[in-house]
Order: sequence, then C-alpha cells, then structure tokens
Amino acid sequence: MVTGKYALIGYPLGYSLSPALHNNFFEKENISAAYEAKALLETEIESFVKAKEYTGFNVTIPYKETIIPYLDRITSTAHEIGAVNTVKLVDNAYIGDNTDAGGFGLMLKEDLGINMQGMRVLLLGAGGAAKAISYRALKDECRELLVFDTSLDKTESLLARYSSYKQIKALNSLQSITPFYPQIDMVINATPVGMKDNSSILNSEEINLLPKTAYVIDIIYSPLETPLLKIAREFGLKTLNGVGMLAGQGILGEKLWFNKSLSYQEAKAIISHGL
Ligand code: NAP
Repeated sequence: MVTGKYALIGYPLGYSLSPALHNNFFEKENISAAYEAKALLETEIESFVKAKEYTGFNVTIPYKETIIPYLDRITSTAHEIGAVNTVKLVDNAYIGDNTDAGGFGLMLKEDLGINMQGMRVLLLGAGGAAKAISYRALKDECRELLVFDTSLDKTESLLARYSSYKQIKALNSLQSITPFYPQIDMVINATPVGMKDNSSILNSEEINLLPKTAYVIDIIYSPLETPLLKIAREFGLKTLNGVGMLAGQGILGEKLWFNKSLSYQEAKAIISHGL
C-alpha cells in the first residue's frame, strides 16, 4: 500500500479545493495518504523543504518562483516556464515540475477537443498563469500569441522568457488590440478581472469584433461564468471557464506522484461540488 503526506503550500491560503480533490483520489484508489493545505511564511520554506516530511506537495501564490532554489532539481518544463506548482520526493530529492501548462492543455483537449496549433491567440495577462499558458500555446505551435497586460514589467518578463519563439508579440494598450480582433481564434483571460469586480476585461463592442468561430476562455473558476464569458456566450461564441484547468493540473500532479489519477470528469465534478 502506498502511503504518504501531501500538501499545498502558499500564503495566505484561503479556501482551497486541492485537499478535496486529492483526498477523494486517495480514498478511491485506497491509497493511505493525506493531503492538507499548509500556509507557510516565506521564512518557513527552507525548513519545510529540508525536513522532507512530505512525499509530494503543490505550490501556489506567492511561492511558485520562490521555491525553485530550495529544490534539488526542476524539470525542463518548470525551468522554461520559470515556476513550479508540483513537487515530488524521489530518492530523498525534491523534484519540481509545472502542471499548470499541461492542465490548460488537458482542458482544451477534454472540453473542446482542440489544441492551439495554428491559432492566433490573444492572451490577456502576463502573470504566473499567463506564463504557463504561453508555454502551452508555444509548444502547441500557435500561429501568433498576442499578450496584453497593464503591467509593463510583467509583459517584458514574459516576453524575455520566451524570446526564442517568434510567434509571441506584446501589445501595449487595449486599444492597440482593435485591428487584431477579426483574426483572433482564441481569447484567454489570465487576469483577475471578473473574479470579484463583476466587470469584463473586454467590452461588448470588442467581443463583437471577434469571428463567430472564436473561443473565449476565462481561467477564473469562481464565478463559473464571469462577465466576459457571459457577453461572449450571448454573442454565440464558444466559452469555457477555468474549472478544467484546475482539474487538469491536479490530475497531472496525481499522475506524477502515483502514475494514476482521477478521471478528468471526476476531478471536475469534485471541484464544481466544492465551489
Ligand atoms: P498574477 O500573477 O497576479 O497575474 C495577473 C496579471 O494580470 C498581472 O500581471 C496584472 O497586472 C494583470 N492585470 C490586472 N488587471 C489587468 C487588466 N485590466 N488588463 C490587463 N492586465 C491586467 O495572477 P495569476 O496567478 O497569473 O492569476 C490570474 C488569474 O487566473 C486569477 O484570477 C487566478 O484565480 C486565475 N488562475 C486560475 C487557474 C486555474 O487553474 N483555473 C490557475 C492559476 C490562476 P498587475 O500586477 O499590474 O495588477
């Protein structure tokens, strides 16, 4: 029987769906392990890692980058994205990986039956989640990746990270996106706009300029339908929220830890139930 201690570390840790997701998996697979949410101060990270008390753990805001120097190794995916969200203990060494990018890809595959190959993608946001999504889009060989963020520093940091990919371009204002709308295949909101403020990052006029075949994805999962998704749905566009990305990163984490996982639909159902 497999045993172990698993955790999510971050700070502050509000209500998290990860314990429900992974504890359900342990129960279903008869794995004698427990997953807990563990709020850690930055000064506690080093001793947490050194103790090697946990067989695996997830990392969330604000430590996805901070954790890297404390780990024994990171995968090439985590290295290229510059962030770690899943860690596995192997032969007493902590190995960091990133399943956010794969989680986004799994959601596209499972919910829409697509990847981003050949697509013109408009990515709103250049923060942590956007870095992982950019990686997926570039590995999928998207035709163009247009990135807009109000923070110039974050936009520049994302561009510098992927400077070897010629498809990626930064836009410096919302207005500068206007000529591109009719050619966009997929819009992805990776900003927090619409989570608490009940506002849409794009207005109706802008959404109306998109082709009727465009996908509009908001990686926010609470609320399930953000104002952006509501407007896009009312225009008849295909929409998707972030539940599947969260489920996907969890499933890929389980696969990394145990070589098996909940099914995509099971994971989505547990998350939806917990929201
Ligand atoms: P983050 O690192 O803070 O990045 C968000 C970025 O959006 C920041 O650079 C921010 O700039 C920018 N921004 C804010 N308002 C903007 C606007 N009006 N126009 C353009 N850019 C704007 O956050 P994150 O970790 O990437 O998370 C982003 C969102 O994705 C959150 O809502 C989070 O809940 C969600 N998320 C979902 C999943 C999932 O599994 N479904 C996973 C990760 C994240 P400033 O820093 O200047 O404000």
